[in-house]
Amino acid sequence: MIPQAFIDTLLQRVDIVELVGSYVQLKKAGINYSGLCPFHTEKSPSFTVSASKQFYHCFGCGAHGTAVGFLMEHLGLSFPQAVEDLARRAGLEVPQEQASESDKAASAAQRDQRVRLMDCTLQAAKFYQRRLKESPQAIDYLKRRGVTGEIAKRYHLGYSPEGWQPLQSVFADYEQADLVDAGLVIASHDESGKSKRYDRFRNRLMFPILSARGEVIGFGARTLGSDEPKYLNSPETPLFSKGQNLYGVFEGRTSIREAGQVWVVEGYMDVVALAQHGLGHAVATLGTATTEQHLRMLIRMADQVVFMFDGDAAGQRAAAKALEISLPFATPKTTFKFVFLPNQHDPDSFVRESGAQALLDHVAAAPPLSSFLWTQSVADQDLATPEGRAAASVEVRRLLGLMPATELKLQIAQSCAKRLECDLASLGVSASVTRSPGSAHSERPNRGDFANRSSAHRSDHRPNNRPADRLTDGRPAWVPGYGQRERMERRPVRRPIPSLSDRLMQILVRQPQRAGSLQPEVLATLTPAQQALVQWVRGQPGRSFASLHEAALAAAGTQDSSGWGADGPDQQLDVSPAALFQRYAQPEITLDDLMAQDQSDLVQTEWDRAASGLLLRDLQARATSLAKSLGAGQVASPERLSELRDLQAKIAELKQSLMQ
Ligand SMILES: [Zn+2]
Repeated sequence: MIPQAFIDTLLQRVDIVELVGSYVQLKKAGINYSGLCPFHTEKSPSFTVSASKQFYHCFGCGAHGTAVGFLMEHLGLSFPQAVEDLARRAGLEVPQEQASESDKAASAAQRDQRVRLMDCTLQAAKFYQRRLKESPQAIDYLKRRGVTGEIAKRYHLGYSPEGWQPLQSVFADYEQADLVDAGLVIASHDESGKSKRYDRFRNRLMFPILSARGEVIGFGARTLGSDEPKYLNSPETPLFSKGQNLYGVFEGRTSIREAGQVWVVEGYMDVVALAQHGLGHAVATLGTATTEQHLRMLIRMADQVVFMFDGDAAGQRAAAKALEISLPFATPKTTFKFVFLPNQHDPDSFVRESGAQALLDHVAAAPPLSSFLWTQSVADQDLATPEGRAAASVEVRRLLGLMPATELKLQIAQSCAKRLECDLASLGVSASVTRSPGSAHSERPNRGDFANRSSAHRSDHRPNNRPADRLTDGRPAWVPGYGQRERMERRPVRRPIPSLSDRLMQILVRQPQRAGSLQPEVLATLTPAQQALVQWVRGQPGRSFASLHEAALAAAGTQDSSGWGADGPDQQLDVSPAALFQRYAQPEITLDDLMAQDQSDLVQTEWDRAASGLLLRDLQARATSLAKSLGAGQVASPERLSELRDLQAKIAELKQSLMQ
């Protein structure tokens, strides 16, 4: 847990104008700064950054928050990651509560080592990149694969020369342990017991693997000769772990936002080839099955995750595994697709043979998670027989058990039950207990005390580090012109930000005690269903999130027999407070992160700004319609003119209080 006092100090030390300014072009406007909102597409600036308040606020889409919130939303970092990133910019060290002196010393040593290793990998990456130009063989290989210089540069591709110790020309001390620890050099002994050292990567096309922040943490490498193995990765090092990292995350982040989806493929060459065809939103697992950590990264990046597999038996097995890993994360908001390529094809060969549009069509036609779950469950079963249906229902039950309790799970259960001619209960989804045991993620919405989750979050809390060649704003400083081009092209369509009223409701269900103090003017701006939800919560004073959530689940259960149709959630036009409660109780990464970290100040800020934003929007709408009616040829009565002036004054006042 990061102490609140440190967050406060950090937010005082960091200049949000400078931070946001490194991603968004800002212009001074009065005492604030404004620019085009990075969170929604717009032509005239409604995005404002306040230097005095150290906040950003968008009058267009309602995005708002502190420097920490900006990094979380914009780069998709978790709360601890965002804090670390900011601390690094401010030259501060993130303190660990309750850490013993020896723990502190150990983590300081770890941090120092990471900094040194990161310097080694960065120097090596620069060396390999320089050598690419001098290798006709490597260039020829890329040309044959249709990879242009531009894409090679975007992915920082390189070439590791032949010979045993090419890196000796880069590192003055070739004997240093850091080179071995960084996975660049192999130390072994010859027959006579004499120690010898040599470069791990020789005569290979090099694919630097970057962290989400743009640091070089490892390498993938493809042989250009006849050496085995054909593909070789960095070993597990203090910087790099294949179960925790994905290839192409940093390079693809703009395209992923624009596409609103992320594709998961197997090889780095697939990622590069897809980017070459304008499909820059792919990432690759590094020779390993998809892990839970991968999934957490992926759902931070986009709401739709598309897994792509070869059409052979190995691809089928990999897909079955990916399905199981994905189920705990499947909600109506986060969707998964499972795409199988025609036999003998990988994404690289497919896109080169058939083109980008054919692949996009293929992805669009692929079944969603619900269909894939069904086909996986009934594979090899004869549904015409009771035996076949029973076997299938056992498998459906097992897979459903991995899913969090959401409308999606209910819908899938309902449709499977119909096809298997059984009831919901025999699929383990009873009307009142739609929760699944055993999966950490699925318990999230039912956990009253979000702070309990902080131990889970600690695992992705990596030590603070300061690479020697500083990657100040998350871009590799060593690629000339990289930042410039990207800044100009950047017009991300991001993960949709919850609307102001949705945000207010998300906080309200998690902290039901707030219902009592919601101002009537704010309440009046909500939809009738949302107002009913507020009244529903107010009608049960003193109850915690967990206990209300139980009640909501039970109420939705009674609705089960009558309300839930097989036609999908869209049919439910008239949403009950209990159903709405469940919807808003669904995991919301940014908010849940703040609550898990007990950042009550930041939650309060989110709440205040959502409420003020709603009021502001309401006043603006009234002012606009009044101004319209006055402009429509009617004689403007002094009363109406002064009413308009009052409204405009209130708007100005509210805007000011929001930003200053
Ligand atoms: Zn906006």
